[in-house]
Amino acid sequence: MFDVVIIGAGPTGASAALFTAKAGKKTLVIDNDKSVTKRAWIENHYGVEEITGPDLIEIGKKQATKFGAEIVPATVSTITKTDNGFKVETDQSEYEAKHVIVATGMSVDLAEKVGLQTKPGTEPRIKTILDVDHAGKTNIAGIWAAGTVAGVSMHTIITAGDGAKVAINVISELNGERYVDHDILKS
Ligand SMILES: Cc1cc2nc3c(=O)[nH]c(=O)nc-3n(C[C@H](O)[C@H](O)[C@H](O)COP(=O)(O)OP(=O)(O)OC[C@H]3O[C@@H](n4cnc5c(N)ncnc54)[C@H](O)[C@@H]3O)c2cc1C
Repeated sequence: MFDVVIIGAGPTGASAALFTAKAGKKTLVIDNDKSVTKRAWIENHYGVEEITGPDLIEIGKKQATKFGAEIVPATVSTITKTDNGFKVETDQSEYEAKHVIVATGMSVDLAEKVGLQTKPGTEPRIKTILDVDHAGKTNIAGIWAAGTVAGVSMHTIITAGDGAKVAINVISELNGERYVDHDILKS
């Protein structure tokens, strides 16, 4: 049983995984390698002078796995409710999760299939997004959404930040109190 299964390993999903794994939550990321970020050249990500999209994605995945997140290359075909949480099925396997974070970028196919409520997007070229509350909760309790698919401005620093925000909300719900992750510089 994973505490959190994250669907998508773009800036949103990998950033979420970095936080949940670093918080000690058993984390699985499932990704089918279709990130739009692979086509990006980025010079507007605070703290990073310039970086290719593929490099940003690889570093993000490395940061998440450093803290114990597992990343599986596969396509999630469906999510079903179980007594304890959710069953997340791919073309090859199935996984149990207490919480699911949908971070599928521009794709809402899976979300629509599993009955997540959608609404029209407001960002350029984004037709449909998931209807989430300020915390990232969808209409199905325990399934959360973040990043492009949740309708935030489509920039890496914002989608990564939204992934982190939703991850912190999931961790806080698992812990039963607000969570903060601050490391102190050793003098
Ligand atoms: C050409 C181009 C240039 C850009 N330039 C910039 C720039 O200069 N600066 C900037 O800030 N932003 C830029 N962006 C935007 C940036 O890429 C996005 O804002 C951001 O990366 C989106 O992150 P995301 O994680 O939400 O989506 P994505 O990066 O698309 O990640 C979604 C992931 O979900 C996976 N996925 C989807 N469905 C499934 C499924 N069913 N099962 C398993 N995996 C699934 C996909 O394979 C993908 O890896 C650019 C985008 C493009 C296309």
